[in-house]
Amino acid sequence: MTRDKLTAYIHTWGCQMNVRDSEHIKGILKGEGYDISDTPEGASLVVLNTCSIREKAEQKFLSELGRLSLQKKKHPELKIAVSGCIAQQQGRALLKSHPSVDFSFGPQNIFGLKEFLYDEHRTAFTKENFEAENEKLQTPHRDNDLRAWVNIMYGCNNYCSYCVVPYTRGRERSRPFEHIISEARDLAGIGYKEITLLGQNVNSYNGGCTFPELLTMISNIEGILRIRFITSHPKDLNAELASTIGENKKICNHIHLPVQSGSSSVLTRMNRKYTYEEYFTKIQLLRKHVPDIAITTDIIAGFPGETDSDHKETVRALKEIEFDGIFAFKYSQRPNTKAAGMDHQLSDKIKSQRLAEILTVSDVITENINNSLEGRCFEVMTEGKSETNAENKWFGRTTSNKIVNFLPNENTKRGLIVMVRIIEGFKHSLDGELVV
Ligand code: SF4
Repeated sequence: MTRDKLTAYIHTWGCQMNVRDSEHIKGILKGEGYDISDTPEGASLVVLNTCSIREKAEQKFLSELGRLSLQKKKHPELKIAVSGCIAQQQGRALLKSHPSVDFSFGPQNIFGLKEFLYDEHRTAFTKENFEAENEKLQTPHRDNDLRAWVNIMYGCNNYCSYCVVPYTRGRERSRPFEHIISEARDLAGIGYKEITLLGQNVNSYNGGCTFPELLTMISNIEGILRIRFITSHPKDLNAELASTIGENKKICNHIHLPVQSGSSSVLTRMNRKYTYEEYFTKIQLLRKHVPDIAITTDIIAGFPGETDSDHKETVRALKEIEFDGIFAFKYSQRPNTKAAGMDHQLSDKIKSQRLAEILTVSDVITENINNSLEGRCFEVMTEGKSETNAENKWFGRTTSNKIVNFLPNENTKRGLIVMVRIIEGFKHSLDGELVV
């Protein structure tokens, strides 16, 4: 069933860190002579790059692994590797419970993939390898030729009580700023227009300069038109960052700032290190310096012990802040986390009801915000033909990270900043027309 040439398929679940890790994995495999396929059919190697932040992501991985295991029974030459947070958390246990897995490796061991590929033994590579990862990971594969991810730091020190990341990705460590600048310069040199700085808590960056200083240095690189960053932690958001975003045109008017709950007592049990009032003060600070900033967030519905009144505080917070968009999920117990052992775990029914209310309230707010943009003009970076409509429209993004669909003209090509007037706002996108 395998093709003549070595072919690999990488399935990615989870956050942008995982997406970037998959790019590194693809880069290493290409260096070893693999073609990268968009489907698992016919692949000689399948890498499942896993996420364990929520139970659902883990279930999806297990079902895909089950499907591949059946395939491997018919085609024993198929190699299956597991990477990411589940691989790190489970180590050798994963190989024991799933005999179809040939080898596994954690996020700090990706750079070793070149060697693991040829290891004759079924092994789990999950050693802490902080020092080695920084610079060996700069493999060339990138999924997009306009917008690039750049890791600026790895790991996390915060130990939020529901989260596995500090256990799977290790303690926080920042790449030296010189290395980041040099990577960004190289990207500009080969035509990249937009850079997204990546880290679990980018604004805690500590690699020889402050995070706002890093943003400013990257903005001075010729050819880079836009800079984004994800994810920021509310506790480290300060006036220096807010004013840097406000003053520097290349730094996009968007921040993803997870609040998780509108109840300060839930935030304490989550170990988030801020109260709702402190979070709200940071939102005001951001809006003072960047009046047009789009703010998105994460919410967990039904954290252990969350009362009806805690939930109402979250709904109230959504209405008070008016986020441009949210990612909301039901709380799920993750192994080895403090919250998993907390009393008063809520039923799935209550969690689902609360999640549904949160999403309903948020959808209305998002749509209202997008409607309010009708008639206004925005700079949009063109990205290509829109995949979702049949009218030959193109799409791009505003600096506030909103997708805009528009009819192109004869000068339209990828990677331009064009002016677009918004005609209609929807929940997930905007329709606009070029302003010539
Ligand atoms: S800040 Fe909290 S939620 Fe985010 S990665 Fe660290 S521990 Fe997890």
